[in-house]
Amino acid sequence: MGLVEGGHVLVTGGAGYVGSVCAAVLCEQGYRVTVIDDLSTGNREAVPSAAAFLEGDVLDRAPEALADDCAAVFHFAAKSLVGESVESPDIYWHGNVVTSLQLLDLMRAHGVDNLVFSSTAACYGEPEEVPITEEMPTAPTNPYGASKLSIDQIITSYAHAYGLGATSLRYFNVAGAYGATGENRVVETHLIPLVLQVALDAREQIMVFGDDWPTPDGTCVRDYIHIRDLADAHLLAARSNSPGTHRIFNLGSGDGYSVQQVIDTCRDVTGHAIPAVTAPRRAGDPATLIASSARAINELGWAPTRSDLHTIVSDAWAFTSRLGDRAHFARR
Ligand code: UDP
Repeated sequence: MGLVEGGHVLVTGGAGYVGSVCAAVLCEQGYRVTVIDDLSTGNREAVPSAAAFLEGDVLDRAPEALADDCAAVFHFAAKSLVGESVESPDIYWHGNVVTSLQLLDLMRAHGVDNLVFSSTAACYGEPEEVPITEEMPTAPTNPYGASKLSIDQIITSYAHAYGLGATSLRYFNVAGAYGATGENRVVETHLIPLVLQVALDAREQIMVFGDDWPTPDGTCVRDYIHIRDLADAHLLAARSNSPGTHRIFNLGSGDGYSVQQVIDTCRDVTGHAIPAVTAPRRAGDPATLIASSARAINELGWAPTRSDLHTIVSDAWAFTSRLGDRAHFARR
C-alpha cells in the first residue's frame, strides 16, 4: 500500500544533499522520519531536527528502524563519484549493490514493502538522442552508473517475486537549495556550487571543460532540476507505490542549459564577474543530457515549479553565500 499520512519513513543517507532535503520535506508534511547516515560524506547539521538520527552503517542500524512500525524506505545512502568508481569499483559494487541487496532483504524480513530508490541518469550512459525517455537503452559508461542500474534490476525482480512496491527515480543534474540545505560537499566537483564559490572569492576561476562540443555554444548541455522539485517526486512516489510493481521515472526539467549559460546566469544572480577559462574536456562527459520527464508528470502527477535555471541558481546562491566565506571552503 502507498505511504499514508503520518507514517514512519526510514531515510538512508539522510545527512546527504538529496536525502536531507527529502527528510526535511517528509518532516514538514507530518511524517515520522528516521535518518541513518554514517556521515562519511553527509553533514550532521543537514539532518532535520524533527527526525530521529541513527549514526552508523545502514545495515547495522536499519533493523532497529524497520522494526519500529516502518511504512516506507527512501534509500539514498550510496557512493556517487564517477571518477572514484572507475578507480575503485569494489567500493561501488559492495557499497552500492551489496548494501542495497541486503537492505532489501532486511525490508522483506520486517515486512516493509514500500521503497523509493535514488537512481541516476548515469544508467543511460551516452544517449543516442535527447530527450531521454525511460524506454531508451541503458548503457552506463562507468561503475557508478552500472551499480545503480544493477540495483534497479534487483528491485524489479524483488517486486515481481516478493511483492515489493518500488519506484526508482533517475535524477539528471540536481541543484539549488532548500531551507538550510544545499550543496556542501567536502570534495566538490559539480558545476553550480563551484561557480558560486568563484563568486564568493573562495576560488579564482571556473574551468570550462571543453568549448568544442557539438552544442550551440560549444560547451556541454545539461538538464538541471531543483532539489525541492525532486523531493516532491519522492513523496508522490511513496504515496502511490503499489505492491508487486517497480516503476522507473526520469526527473529533469526537460530543458538543457550549457555550461556557458550556467556561468552567465551565476554572473546575473551574484553580480560577480566570475572569471572562466577553457580547460580540456573531462573524461566521460557526454555532450548533451536532457530528460524527458513526461512519464513522471503524467503518471506521478509531478509538477515541478522551481526548476528554471534562474530560480535554481538564486536558491543555491542564497545557501552558498550564507554558508560562508572563503575560509569555509579553504578549510575543506
Ligand atoms: N563542468 C565544468 N567545470 C567544472 C565542473 C563541471 O565545465 O568545474 C561541466 C561538466 O563538464 C559538465 C557540466 O559542467 O558538462 C555539469 O557537470 P557536473 O559535474 O555538475 O554534473 P554531471 O553532468 O557530470 O553529473
